[in-house]
Amino acid sequence: MKEVEIKFHGYKCSLCDAEYQPNEAIYTCRHDGGNLDIIYDYDSLQRDLSPESIFRSKENSLWRYLPLLPVKEIHAPGTPMQAVGWTPVFSPPELRRQLGVEDLWIKDESRNPTASFKDRASAVVVAQALETGVEIVVTASTGNAGAALAGMAAAAGQKAVIFAPRNAPPAKIAQLLIYEAQVLLVDGNYDQAFDLSIAASNEFGWYCRNTGYNPFSLEGKKPRHTRFGRM
Ligand SMILES: [Zn+2]
Repeated sequence: MKEVEIKFHGYKCSLCDAEYQPNEAIYTCRHDGGNLDIIYDYDSLQRDLSPESIFRSKENSLWRYLPLLPVKEIHAPGTPMQAVGWTPVFSPPELRRQLGVEDLWIKDESRNPTASFKDRASAVVVAQALETGVEIVVTASTGNAGAALAGMAAAAGQKAVIFAPRNAPPAKIAQLLIYEAQVLLVDGNYDQAFDLSIAASNEFGWYCRNTGYNPFSLEGKKPRHTRFGRM
């Protein structure tokens, strides 16, 4: 099988179907503010890719699904960026019995580099920032998303700016600082931190990770749900 090249063709508005180029750092539709979906070349994916080719991959991480992600290559190899995903799945007999659920599977996402599944979205967002030449990434967060972005940015040599509500858990703020993120405590709630992070992103050209806003964050979470093996 020939090597699968990137199949990311751009963005499409979920409301008005407007399309945007893949090399634009864009979040929502310029016409109506609608959320954007990532577009792939599904015809060539169907032609060039098979489940077997993914099962055969030696990459024990999220990046084994690279042909199905809007990212050109594995960035920052040999760092925690490459260690995201591929977390184990358990089906504890005692818990199945207690709950009376025969088909019960628990995926241990705490095995990710910063200890949460948010690493998946953050790794893909940081990869996109690298591919579009943006050096600073930003998000609003009360905890895990900020830690994940700060951790992935540190691994990839990028700067991260995190807007966090002042009442965010101190342990989470400490984790941000360990990853050398610039932490801006907001006198307000998460929504206000969210608005500030977007304003800063627009003003300074920082790449914004915010969930529900950046279409790449959803792509990062995509290869996660399966009972047929690790993802
Ligand atoms: Zn639109």
